[in-house]
Amino acid sequence: MYEFEFVKPATVEAAIEALKDEDAQPLAGGQTLIPTLKQRLNMPSKLVSLKGITALQGVREESGTLRIGAATTHAEIARATATLFPGLASLAGRIGDPAVRNRGTIGGSIANNDPSACYPAMLMAVRGSVITNTREIPAEAYFQGMFDTALEDGELVTAISIPVPEASNYQKFEQPASRFPLCGVFVARFLDRVGVAVTGASNDGVFAWAEAEQALATDFAPAAVTALAALDGEDMIDDLHGSGAYRAHLASVLTRRAVEAMG
Ligand SMILES: Cc1cc2nc3c(=O)[nH]c(=O)nc-3n(C[C@H](O)[C@H](O)[C@H](O)COP(=O)(O)OP(=O)(O)OC[C@H]3O[C@@H](n4cnc5c(N)ncnc54)[C@H](O)[C@@H]3O)c2cc1C
Repeated sequence: MYEFEFVKPATVEAAIEALKDEDAQPLAGGQTLIPTLKQRLNMPSKLVSLKGITALQGVREESGTLRIGAATTHAEIARATATLFPGLASLAGRIGDPAVRNRGTIGGSIANNDPSACYPAMLMAVRGSVITNTREIPAEAYFQGMFDTALEDGELVTAISIPVPEASNYQKFEQPASRFPLCGVFVARFLDRVGVAVTGASNDGVFAWAEAEQALATDFAPAAVTALAALDGEDMIDDLHGSGAYRAHLASVLTRRAVEAMG
């Protein structure tokens, strides 16, 4: 390791102040950041740990909306949402392995915006929003492409706001080595709309699949997905794990499976 300063503030305000230093960076679970430090791909002058900030912890329900603190771990989300939002609990409970789930946080995941991360699919499907120390950003505006978000320098994700759907399901086709989704689809059904979002498939990162949303809003049945034309127009990831056409096909299959699972 190279030398850097490490601070562990107790409040969001103190964290924001510490992040004003040049090259200072927040540290949440470290599941992505620490490996990049070890490889010298990133060399911040100061790490601002979020683990001591109680205000960034926990899951609260307020009239149909969940507010999840940015520093809440995947394991805690899986536990706390089991009855409130089982689709999210199932997603969180399948991220990585127990070590990753006990350290990694939802805020770190969405700040990183890996094109194969699981939470962005949920957040896009429900049309949730990202709350920072300065503003609230709708998911559609927040996710701006591969590893790219609307966050400004020094801006901290403090919470995620999620309208809870009537029913939901997350289907994840795992890349067996990394356990990240090769393609993942989150389907959320509300009284007046259906959300379908795909992760792991596009070079632009997570996206809402508008045609599937419209088809399922009219007829919430697997046949409505089967009747759809294959995804095109999306710039699909084409790598050694699967071609773009394969990922487009997976998106359809996984959407149908999610609808089937929701009965
Ligand atoms: C083996 C393995 C398997 C995994 N499998 C999956 C998987 O299947 N699905 C999946 O979705 N993820 C997976 N992950 C990633 C995991 O979810 C991580 O938790 C996540 O990528 C980063 O979260 P973190 O809390 O560790 O963030 P960190 O590594 O601490 O930080 C990541 C980045 O976000 C920034 N940051 C952190 N918190 C904030 C904040 N509140 N505001 C602003 N910026 C912030 C940091 O400065 C850094 O740039 C896996 C990771 C590993 C190691």
